[in-house]
Amino acid sequence: MQTDVFIGLGSNLQEPAAQLARAVAELAALPDTTLIAQSPFYASRPVGPQDQPDFVNGAVWLSSRLVPHALLDQLQAIEQAHGRERLRHWGPRTLDLDLLVFGSQTLNDDRLIVPHRELPNRDFVLQPLLDLKPDLTLPDGTTIVTLRTQCPDNRLRRLPPPDYP
Ligand code: ADP
Ligand code: MG
Repeated sequence: MQTDVFIGLGSNLQEPAAQLARAVAELAALPDTTLIAQSPFYASRPVGPQDQPDFVNGAVWLSSRLVPHALLDQLQAIEQAHGRERLRHWGPRTLDLDLLVFGSQTLNDDRLIVPHRELPNRDFVLQPLLDLKPDLTLPDGTTIVTLRTQCPDNRLRRLPPPDYP
C-alpha cells in the first residue's frame, strides 16, 4: 500500500541549501518510495538558541510503501550520512529530517509522534506544506491553511531556486 508522506528538511551548517538539495535526491532514491514534489526552500531565524546561523527549510511529498518506523530509520541514516551530531536541543545541525505527516495515521510512541508535534507552531514547516498541497489536512481534520494563519511569524524568506551549472 502506498502512503502519501510529508517530510520536513532543515539545515543551518555547511551550505544549508546544498545539504537540503542532496537530501531531496537521497529521499527520492529511498527503497519503495517515489518523490511526488519538492517545495521551495525558505530561510528562517533559528528556534531556541539565537547564537547560531539562520536555517534553510523545505519539505517534500513522497509516496512510500515503507512503514513509519522503517522510514524514520532511513531518515536518521540520511541525517548521519550528512555528518549530523546531536550536540544540544534545537542547536545547529547539518541536516534535520522530520516525519511531518504519514497519510491519515497518528502515532505516539518512544520514537515517533506523527503528525509532528511542533508542526502547528512552525511557519517554516507549514508554508512548504502549503506549497506542496494547499488542501492538506491532518488526521483530525485540521487544515494546514488554518494552522498557517494561527502560527507565530518567524520572518520566513523564500529563497530563489538554486542555479544549477
Ligand atoms: P528535533 O527535530 O525536534 O530538533 P531531533 O531531530 O534531534 O529533534 O529528533 C529527536 C528524536 O525525535 C528522534 O530520536 C526521533 O525518535 C524523535 N521523533 C519523534 N517524532 C518524530 C517525527 N515525527 N519525526 C522525526 N523524529 C521524531
Ligand atoms: Mg528532527
